[in-house]
Amino acid sequence: MKTNEITIDQVREVYEMLQGMPLPEGWHMAEQPQLTPGAAFAVIWFLQERLRVIPDHYERCKNCDEVFDTDYGGQVVSADDVDEYDQAAYDAIGVSADELREYEGAQFCDVECEAQFWHDLHNDLTDTEEEMKCQKLLI
Ligand SMILES: [Zn+2]
Repeated sequence: MKTNEITIDQVREVYEMLQGMPLPEGWHMAEQPQLTPGAAFAVIWFLQERLRVIPDHYERCKNCDEVFDTDYGGQVVSADDVDEYDQAAYDAIGVSADELREYEGAQFCDVECEAQFWHDLHNDLTDTEEEMKCQKLLI
């Protein structure tokens, strides 16, 4: 690790502060932000990509919203670079090539979170299909 490099714990502290979570002991803020996880991570992203004050290997999991270090794990959705192991996993849970393209670049902290994301996505689609069926019956 480089000297003075911002740690994952420090990034998590900023991420939580931006969402209005409790501040460290002894710290107070008159107007603490109350951002959503997505908006809070957008601030961190700007500090990473524009100002380069936070290393860009910290990412937010698209499933659980936790910040994690891509140097020590994580999953990235890729449409073009799917190895045999991932393809077998995608086939098993019914993830299509179109979906991989749609969510290209999505980050997950681990394989379980990625599987949960696809599961939830597919169940939402099913709910929508169910609603459409019901609406057709009503017409
Ligand atoms: Zn996760």
